[in-house]
Amino acid sequence: MVGPVQRWVVLGELIGAGEPLGVEQLGRRASLETAAIRRTLGALREYGQVRLLLALDDGPALFVPAERPTVAYLRCPACGGVSAPAEHPLAPLARQLRERFGQELRLSRFVFAWRCARCAAGGEEGAEEISRSSGRIGLRAATRGGEDASGIG
Ligand SMILES: [Zn+2]
Repeated sequence: MVGPVQRWVVLGELIGAGEPLGVEQLGRRASLETAAIRRTLGALREYGQVRLLLALDDGPALFVPAERPTVAYLRCPACGGVSAPAEHPLAPLARQLRERFGQELRLSRFVFAWRCARCAAGGEEGAEEISRSSGRIGLRAATRGGEDASGIG
């Protein structure tokens, strides 16, 4: 059983962050063990207050407050930054599928791997991060790197 105070603390951190957060990020912000965060997120999902984003990039699961509009997120495999672009890079593909097959490719609620503009521009730092993050361990290390790893300008 997860108490209401703990639920409010975790939900408050998620709302205050203004971007999707993973279990470890929430644990750092709320000063709680990851097991406690998982239990709390489970309870918040049951109450319909938190939404799980499905990570299609093999990265850690991300959560957003349920009140947020449903949008598609991108996570940079190089720096771990998460963004929600107004124009999704796969939108043209979704349009084509709709026109040719009448099928709707739903992009929202998913996290796709997509290099952010800064890393795509390929500064020396970016190139180093890309080579380091060629595996899952590298991505986790980049994600664990701290608050500034999650922000994209
Ligand atoms: Zn990046």
